[in-house]
Amino acid sequence: MTPDLQATVKDLMPRLTEELKQLVRLPSVAFPGFPAAPVEQAGVAVARLLADAGLPDVRMMDVPGAPQAVFGHRPARDGAPTVLLYAHYDVQPAGPEEAWEGGRPFDPVERDGRLYGRGAADDKSGIVMHAGALLALEDDCPVGVKVLIEGQEEAGEGGIEEFVAANAELLEADVIVISDVGNYALGVPTLTTSLRGMAACDVEVETLEGAVHSGMFGGPAPDALVALCRIIATLHDDAGSPAVAGLATMEYDGAPYDEAAYRTDAGVLDGVSLIGKGSIGQRLYGAPSINVIGIDAPRVDGAANALIPKARARVSVRLAPGQDPADALKAVQAHLEAAAPWNVMIKVTPGTTGEGFLAKTDGPAYAAATQALRQAFGKEVVHYGVGGSIPLVAAFLAAIPDAEIILWGPEEPQCKIHAPNESVDLAELERCTLAEALFIAGLCDAR
Ligand SMILES: [Zn+2]
Repeated sequence: MTPDLQATVKDLMPRLTEELKQLVRLPSVAFPGFPAAPVEQAGVAVARLLADAGLPDVRMMDVPGAPQAVFGHRPARDGAPTVLLYAHYDVQPAGPEEAWEGGRPFDPVERDGRLYGRGAADDKSGIVMHAGALLALEDDCPVGVKVLIEGQEEAGEGGIEEFVAANAELLEADVIVISDVGNYALGVPTLTTSLRGMAACDVEVETLEGAVHSGMFGGPAPDALVALCRIIATLHDDAGSPAVAGLATMEYDGAPYDEAAYRTDAGVLDGVSLIGKGSIGQRLYGAPSINVIGIDAPRVDGAANALIPKARARVSVRLAPGQDPADALKAVQAHLEAAAPWNVMIKVTPGTTGEGFLAKTDGPAYAAATQALRQAFGKEVVHYGVGGSIPLVAAFLAAIPDAEIILWGPEEPQCKIHAPNESVDLAELERCTLAEALFIAGLCDAR
């Protein structure tokens, strides 16, 4: 079956490239203030693409507060497993057109084997990859296939998570493939096996009934901003590692992230030290990170000579994969309260939390995915972490707890997703499409 599929996918590439171009031509930006018509047209185009790929029962489904999602289903035969394929058809706004070479972000152009245009990679390449795998497999694979393509990932407000929670039965599958991530580097077959979680809270400090003159009263009375700064300063040790008891750490053993590349990617200024301990990968994907992302205090311009009675900060914590965000939030809250100096009044208000993700790497789907990637790329497969969270992954796991989740796709660092001149490498799209076809075909043998 392998050489056949390889040749089939190769033959499909001109058609898939054309389909991708057609999708890119629709500026399906689902952010408020952008026209709704292209978003709707993109949904219709995706439905047509899936139907043309032989998927029966393709329909548009309502999603709370979001454009309709496209859903299609071919039932499993002979007791074969079912796979659910996910991607999204909305895109990031293009940003300033003059930042794009050629100045037309929704007019796709091929250059040096890459297709340029907003959404060419994120995530319309994922849609085309799913359609391509279905086209390559045709009807002779007994594996059940469900496809869910949503229309509001980039501007998401939780609608799809609600949809997943409300439609657990419809979406029930043995394996869920989320192709909104990608390879560690161009040409390096990669499975994303962990995502960090998050927990945030607001800490407010009060010391005085109101602002008072710093000359007449400064000295004995504590200033709320100084007290808050002392509390914040306890969140890290001198090396910059998180110093909150109860925050978990996981050993990261995936592909490395080169320190110089990290410095460049993050834009760390020359001479500024990196903080924390361990490899960059360990710090990004296996360890928590604590940041203060906002602070309420008087502005410097116009600041009065007065003691500050009240100050507030938002503390945002990224969590090691696998840690329960509620536990982490409690640990941070306890730490902040215990760190308050001088008996100041302190109030910690819990904020949003998000589940991380740690892939099951001992299941049949993980083995089949590894095997398919290795075959399609002709290289050993690496696994990798992602420092952010994908709330949809947690929603799928809550609704369908026994499903194995595979995170992969044609996005790699050169794609510049969310930036001007986004592109996808068409050979990478071909390899990924082949991997997905091999994977689905291989799921039968894996059971
Ligand atoms: Zn995306």
